[in-house]
Amino acid sequence: MNNQLYPWQHEQWDYFTRMISSDSLPHAILLSGPEGVGKHHFARSITAAILCLQQTESGAACGECKHCLLIEAKTYPDLVHVVPEEDKNTISIDAIRELISKLHLTRHFDSKKVALIEYADSMNTSAANALLKTLEEPPEETIIILVTGTPLKLPATIRSRCQFVPFHSPTQEKALAWLQSTSSDAVEWEPLLRIAQGAPLQAMQYHETELLDQRILIVQGFLEVLEANSDPVEIAARIELIPFLQCFQCIQAVIVDLLRIKGAENPITLENPDFYRSLLALAPRMQVPLLLEFWELVLERKRVFDNNLNRRLFTESLLIRTHKLAIKHSV
Ligand SMILES: [Zn+2]
Repeated sequence: MNNQLYPWQHEQWDYFTRMISSDSLPHAILLSGPEGVGKHHFARSITAAILCLQQTESGAACGECKHCLLIEAKTYPDLVHVVPEEDKNTISIDAIRELISKLHLTRHFDSKKVALIEYADSMNTSAANALLKTLEEPPEETIIILVTGTPLKLPATIRSRCQFVPFHSPTQEKALAWLQSTSSDAVEWEPLLRIAQGAPLQAMQYHETELLDQRILIVQGFLEVLEANSDPVEIAARIELIPFLQCFQCIQAVIVDLLRIKGAENPITLENPDFYRSLLALAPRMQVPLLLEFWELVLERKRVFDNNLNRRLFTESLLIRTHKLAIKHSV
């Protein structure tokens, strides 16, 4: 595990290292925050720090002791690390049962036992119920760390038994400074960071997946749907291969732009300044209540989105519903 800390995580880091040094960590901790702010990375670093025999001055794992080497080799016997099954995007009850039985075994070392559950919201109901019992009566010297981008997808009974540690996007200034430090190339980070809603690692991923071109495709397609003069099924096919999160964020940015134009005193800052002319032309036909209805529709779709859904059908249904609303309200 690489124990490097992102510069916007010091507050959470200080919180944890204080508790590690005073041996007062709660039995169950829930790390939560938007995708792309490094909370998974943080969870792995803090797990290593809890188990390390000789932490550095900053409280990080040393990377050299016997425990750190076993963690690095993924063979540390008192650490159970659960992530969703590949291709399934779920954490099954079998995985949680195995975790529980390992937590009840006698410890190999004198340190804590740690269970790290990433994407904890992927637990199905029976898995979550099984874990709940262990959260209610955790074995001695055990720390259970859950990580999620959508805590509300976890049962309230699980959430209420965990110490909640929130993660946030850094300020734009901090995020840009960090992004610029990661690459010697002249990358246009600002628009990528905007689309990533301020999450630096997400912006970096967008850069790697050439999001700027994809954004143009999505914005162009969504504007055509709003204009109600193109076939939403054909547009869904155009953007089918683009990850959903990116689609949602680009679509939300278009709605925000239209709302800004509607309510604006000059000058206005747009999320998609390169589409200024098209947005301006469309704005008079879009009433604010209709834009809010689009916004609600996207939010609702985002809430029910699940990686197991048929992507093409899901995009089609979103665009068809948008298209119908646009026709119904066209003036
Ligand atoms: Zn160590």
